[in-house]
Parts: sequence; C-alpha cells; structure tokens
Amino acid sequence: MSSLYFSHSACLEHDPRAHSPAHPDTPARLLTLERALAERDWLGWRRREAPVASEQQLELVHAAEHVRFIADLCARGGGAIDPDTFVGGSSFRAALHAAGGAVAMVAALLAGEASVGFCGVRPSGHHAERGRAMGFCLFNNVAVAAAVAIAELGLRRVFILDWDVHHGNGTAEIFRRRPDVLFASIHQLPLFPSTGQLEDVGSGPGEGYTINLPVPPASGESLWLALLEQVVLPAAVAFEPELVLVSAGFDAHAQDPLAECNLQTSSFVQIAARVRDMAQVAGIPLGVVLEGGYDRAVLAECVCAILPVIAGDQQPHPLAAQPPAQPGSLTAHARGQIGRYWPL
Ligand SMILES: [Zn+2]
Repeated sequence: MSSLYFSHSACLEHDPRAHSPAHPDTPARLLTLERALAERDWLGWRRREAPVASEQQLELVHAAEHVRFIADLCARGGGAIDPDTFVGGSSFRAALHAAGGAVAMVAALLAGEASVGFCGVRPSGHHAERGRAMGFCLFNNVAVAAAVAIAELGLRRVFILDWDVHHGNGTAEIFRRRPDVLFASIHQLPLFPSTGQLEDVGSGPGEGYTINLPVPPASGESLWLALLEQVVLPAAVAFEPELVLVSAGFDAHAQDPLAECNLQTSSFVQIAARVRDMAQVAGIPLGVVLEGGYDRAVLAECVCAILPVIAGDQQPHPLAAQPPAQPGSLTAHARGQIGRYWPL
C-alpha cells in the first residue's frame, strides 16, 4: 500500500521573522525539506494537498474564542501573541491547512488509502492549548486530527507519541482527562515549556492515560530508546489503539540549536522503526505530523531518513523482551511510575 505526504504552499506564508528577525521557525525549514524530497523523487510517497480544517473540527479541541482570536489578529495584519509566538496576515490560513492536513491524513488512513502518512506542515501544533497559542503553535494539529478520528470517524482509542524535544503541553492539556487518547511524550527538562513531569499522569477519568517522560540535557539514543521500548510501547500495545499519531519534532538532534539532547539522525530512524513495527504488528495505521526541528539541514536529513523506514514493507520486529532496567536508573523510575497503570 502506498504512503501519503500532505503539504500546502500556504504553510510557507506564515513567517514569524516579520515580527522577530531572528525567529527560528522559518519557511525555509519546509523549503529545505521539500527540496531534499524532490531531489529524491519524494521517496516514492504520493503527494496530496492539505485542505483547510473546518472551524467545527478545530473546536473539537479548541475554544471558539481562541479560533476567533487567531482569525481576528491575522485579519488585522498580525502581531505578537507572546514573546515566542507571532502571527502575520497569512498565518491563520497556514494554520488551517496545517491542522487540515493532519485531519485529511487521518481520514485517508482510516479509509484504507494508505497505511502510513506524513504531514510536512507548519505552524506546528503541540504547544497549543485549548484556549491558548504558545511556543510557535496556533492550533494543535495532532490533537485536532485525533479528536476528528474519534468524533467524526468512529474510532474509540488513539495513541499519540510526541518525540519532539519539548513537552507537548498542549496535547497533554487537551486530553488530560480523557481515557480514549493515550498521550506519551519524551522530552528534555529543564526546557521550554517546563511542564511534563513524570508524576503528571493525567487526571480524573484520564488518570494513567498521560505518560510524561522527561530526560535531562545531554540525553542520547540509549535513554530515548530504553524509555520507548520499556515504557511507551508496552503501554501503547496494552492500550490497544486503532490509530497511532506522532508529533514528530527533530529538535532532540545533537545539532539542533534550541535544545541540548544528543540524538543522531540514525537515532530517529531507530525510534521511527520501532513505532512503525508497533503499528504494523497491531495492524493499525501510522500518521506522522511535523512539529519542531530548527537546523534546516538536519530536519531535512531526518525526514528523508525516516520516510523509507515507516513506509517500508519489511517484516516488523515484535517488541522483544527487555533486560530489566538498571535499578535506580531513570528508566527504572519511569517503569515504576507508569507501571502502576500499564503492564510493562
Ligand atoms: Zn520542539
């Protein structure tokens, strides 16, 4: 089955540098990526235009006042929302296509048109809360797509993995009381936005359905893979999701200017391969949505490296039995906490 790549030229029109000349979220991030993919004949992926999300779809996870606020601010020519987050006149339209791309990807996956999808869109989404834009994010693309999958497309359980180096505070906030979305995030702490402690496991009926795995600066592949294999994926398998969505940032790369983790391009390949194996063994589709990644060359290199892996038709490797985590290690501590809710 083929793989689908969603993008839209409107996503290039959102440019925070009009307000903040040194802003790291530039249209060139996507341009560099698209040039690299074009040189590789899009790696055999079929391309689709990302449509706009409807306001009703946005309002499955956002307050109507928030949607209005972004629309009105952009209609007035834009401005600063906070010290990191800026919009211009075209940003509302860019954000509608970014969220709409994620929604269209999920609809295509659930219609059986492909087993994997990738959204090369911006502005990114995972910091956007129900009623607040922040951290370069206006609407929460992954959250909108997950909510549409449940509310409009009949799914009962969606698993979201956020491997961006920053905590996906918006996605966590939106779903923190819901048991139909399992949200897992591996992220650096301390780092913006300073949320995502291990002890925050969701609340009310959503208790246990939020998995926050903070790692210290300088963390590398061995810790990220251990947390993925020994905490995140066993919990995800037990959750029995019908769809896997990934908030895919590439800013945990050693060369990224905004964080201090030490992943290599090959680390993202390994992470992506394990997530793809999990989805394939479960027989469910995998949709990946771009979040951060601020070294343009590294971002392009990472996406070009993972697309063939998640689209590949090689035999999946079921999750192997893991050696016990080193007593006292961060992984052992995380297994103790998350193991109260899931059979790890
Ligand atoms: Zn990030």
